Amino acid sequence: MALNFAKVEFIRSAAARTQFLRDGLPQFAFAGRSNVGKSSVINRLVGRKNLAYVGASPGKTTQINYFLVDRGAYLVDLPGYGYAKVSRAEKERWGRLMESYFQDEAQIITAGVLIVDIRHKPTADDVTMHTWFRETGCPEIVVANKLDKLKRSQVEPALALIRETLELAEADVLVPFSAEKGTGKEELIGLLNAACER
Ligand code: GDP
Repeated sequence: MALNFAKVEFIRSAAARTQFLRDGLPQFAFAGRSNVGKSSVINRLVGRKNLAYVGASPGKTTQINYFLVDRGAYLVDLPGYGYAKVSRAEKERWGRLMESYFQDEAQIITAGVLIVDIRHKPTADDVTMHTWFRETGCPEIVVANKLDKLKRSQVEPALALIRETLELAEADVLVPFSAEKGTGKEELIGLLNAACER
């Protein structure tokens, strides 16, 4: 049965491996560079204004937040990357946390959601994150957010640049999305539900 994303509750934040959830429920892992709109995408999916905190300040970003959707799956909000201003110590903390998440043997990611900015060529960090998802073998959904900021004629070339940079195959999923307007919401929810049934 399809998950109702409007039924969602915060479960916990994890800053270390011992706090990860591994109870066998499907996990949707959301990643993206800071300011790409990851919180806004999550809030849009669940129909809340501030479930995931929009504009979280640097320095409070090195934790993984787990939300339970319809008691059937976890939405896992991975810490954003690419803040210009974070300290080296914090970058290292981020790296260790992500490494332990992606290398956790008990960690089964049902679907990885990589959020990129439709207006820009994916960054080197985006490419790294994309590689990490690929290495887990999980299905990955690339979400090109901030669609509303482009003119219609700019959309296809922008999507092509993202596909090229991430070396996406034709069968790989790229969803144009606007957290602001809600475009792409139903498609993304459909893809996440489908990932649970694989
Ligand atoms: P995060 O750091 O990735 O969690 O990004 P936020 O969700 O805090 O969003 C960063 C900024 O981008 C905020 O000012 C949002 O209002 C804005 N934003 C996010 N998604 C969209 C979108 O689809 N369209 C537009 N125009 N702005 C967006």
